[in-house]
Amino acid sequence: MRLDEFDTTYRFEGKVVSSERISPPETDEVREMVIDIQDGPKFEVGHNFGIIVPAESAFGSKDHFRLYSVADIPASAGNGTQRIVVAVKRVSYIDDYSGERYQGRASNYLCDLRSGDRLTITGPYGTPYKIPEENDANIVLIGMGTGIAPFRAYMKLLYATRPDFAGAVRLFYGARSGLELIYMNEERDDFAQYYDKGTFEAFKALSPRPHWSDPIAWDEAIGDRGMEIWTMLLDHKTYVFVAGMEEIRDHLDDVFAGIVDSREQWLRRKAELQAGGRWIELLY
Ligand SMILES: Cc1cc2nc3c(=O)[nH]c(=O)nc-3n(C[C@H](O)[C@H](O)[C@H](O)COP(=O)(O)OP(=O)(O)OC[C@H]3O[C@@H](n4cnc5c(N)ncnc54)[C@H](O)[C@@H]3O)c2cc1C
Repeated sequence: MRLDEFDTTYRFEGKVVSSERISPPETDEVREMVIDIQDGPKFEVGHNFGIIVPAESAFGSKDHFRLYSVADIPASAGNGTQRIVVAVKRVSYIDDYSGERYQGRASNYLCDLRSGDRLTITGPYGTPYKIPEENDANIVLIGMGTGIAPFRAYMKLLYATRPDFAGAVRLFYGARSGLELIYMNEERDDFAQYYDKGTFEAFKALSPRPHWSDPIAWDEAIGDRGMEIWTMLLDHKTYVFVAGMEEIRDHLDDVFAGIVDSREQWLRRKAELQAGGRWIELLY
């Protein structure tokens, strides 16, 4: 769905409770923001919400709308106030035509907000992530960059609501370098608490030469466990979640086509999973 197709007519206010940098200093800035919403719709894990960056002047620019994912289980902050968490990467990009570097408007606006600041929110959008009914369902999570944020919330929800969940959970997390794995680096590993579950395993997919912009080696991370994952993908109790930048789609198609040695067979299986609501993508 294109950004201009989202309904942004219902807008409500959020108040920043805190904003903390969670990426190491030598990497791109990613901040975790806690936002309170006093009067607004109910947020759930798997939802995305919109941010409206106000126009800089009456003539200069238009409102700017961008989407962000719920990064934790929405909580109550008392008096009917909801508390949500978001992980935002400060983005800059090189314009294809001018060759100049620009700062992304929404991400910089959000990263510059501080405790007490107010912002305009829309949504939520999308379908909340469901906890599988089967206690032995398999869950495969494939995330890249800030795409890890909804998975962090989902894992918390999964083991909080079903502490005895017995299905295999496999997380593949891609980034240029180990330092860029937010929520899974030396300073902070939110997934460490699940390793002793015995059913949870996490794998890192990194670029062999991040400074040369080599692509993330999904083939190594997933390809090395190809048969296990493929067997899971043939099981009717498997749910796959993919989140991150859109480029991940082609990379994964290449990796899975390689595992089964047939692009046609892979695309057919993926279409079946998608039709059954068992391949869920959040791409941007
Ligand atoms: C459903 C959905 C959920 C999203 N969830 C999140 C989230 O939880 N956290 C988050 O930081 N962003 C998220 N995004 C991306 C976000 O909506 C914005 O696109 C991003 O913050 C850049 O907006 P901007 O206005 O600053 O810059 P823009 O002018 O919109 O974009 C500038 C450039 O940055 C690239 N870019 C956009 N997002 C990222 C990113 N996260 N990492 C690296 N490069 C990027 C774009 O491809 C573009 O080239 C999500 C997008 C979608 C569609």
